[in-house]
Amino acid sequence: AKVAGKNCYRFYSRAMDQAVERRVHLEHELRGAWDRGELSLVYQPVYRLADGAMVGAEALLRWKHPEQGLIAPSVFIDVAEQSGLIETLGPQVLRAACEDAMAWQKARPDAEPLFVSVNVSPRQLRSGDLPKTVADCLHDTGLAPHYLHLELTETAVIGDEIHASNLLARLRASGVKVWLDDFGTGFSGLSHLRRVPVDGVKIDRSFIADVLRDPDDLALTTAIIAMAHSLGITVVAEGVEKEGQYAVLRERGCDLAQGYWLGHPVNAQEFRALLIS
Ligand code: C2E
Ligand code: CA
Ligand code: CA
Ligand code: CA
Repeated sequence: AKVAGKNCYRFYSRAMDQAVERRVHLEHELRGAWDRGELSLVYQPVYRLADGAMVGAEALLRWKHPEQGLIAPSVFIDVAEQSGLIETLGPQVLRAACEDAMAWQKARPDAEPLFVSVNVSPRQLRSGDLPKTVADCLHDTGLAPHYLHLELTETAVIGDEIHASNLLARLRASGVKVWLDDFGTGFSGLSHLRRVPVDGVKIDRSFIADVLRDPDDLALTTAIIAMAHSLGITVVAEGVEKEGQYAVLRERGCDLAQGYWLGHPVNAQEFRALLIS
């Protein structure tokens, strides 16, 4: 048993070393990935429930690794965040998204412009450079501020709420919209809304997944919508995979929705084709 235990320990420690090694390796490769053209944005359409119109799109980052193929953002965003790489990657993503949003406007000059929604990581928010980065991107691309939405998770605002709320207030004063992402998953979502100024919340897809089966999830979703509206803020539902979910959200007065049933994330070229069709 003692020998087995020892082997076990060795096994785990080797597995841990390998995990650390893989991370370090990934970080090294991620460093040049943008310049090598391996990183790109895909866009998932966002619809207004009242009339079914497409009103915007969320930018989601993809990494096509030359050997490993597509790597999930849940893996590499974390690496970028921990290593500090996100501080270069974040502004690159923001700029590309603003450029693409301007191209959509040029493709449909007579239509109401679509907003582009960009995910901002906790570290980007903490660094304090965000208002300047955003202002530079808007200035250089010519995108009007209210067509840029920033999505932050609750974890980004935890800790230094005063710093976060000052920063968000500055961004919002410039016209940029701020969304609280994955809303409802943290324990203190409601108290954040009291202190952190946002334009809207995105109901986490775990609530939407069970909204037709689980009365509790339906009750919570309905309550989030009512609460957001009483605070004068907008509600987006994410992860809408079925027509029934769409119907129930619409009936409960949810403002916007996105999900596989409405549209998968597609690359910039496919998204433009979708716009013109
Ligand atoms: P998120 O911000 O919650 O993004 C929504 C995720 O749900 C996306 O996964 C999207 O592809 C997926 N999704 C959309 N519709 C459905 C649906 O109907 N059903 C299901 N099951 N999933 C759906 P993705 O693209 O893998 O992104 C994962 C996370 O990585 C994002 O979660 C976001 O937190 C992060 N991320 C992605 N791009 C960026 C980025 O440019 N910057 C930062 N900081 N984070 C990013
Ligand atoms: Ca998001
Ligand atoms: Ca989310
Ligand atoms: Ca449930």
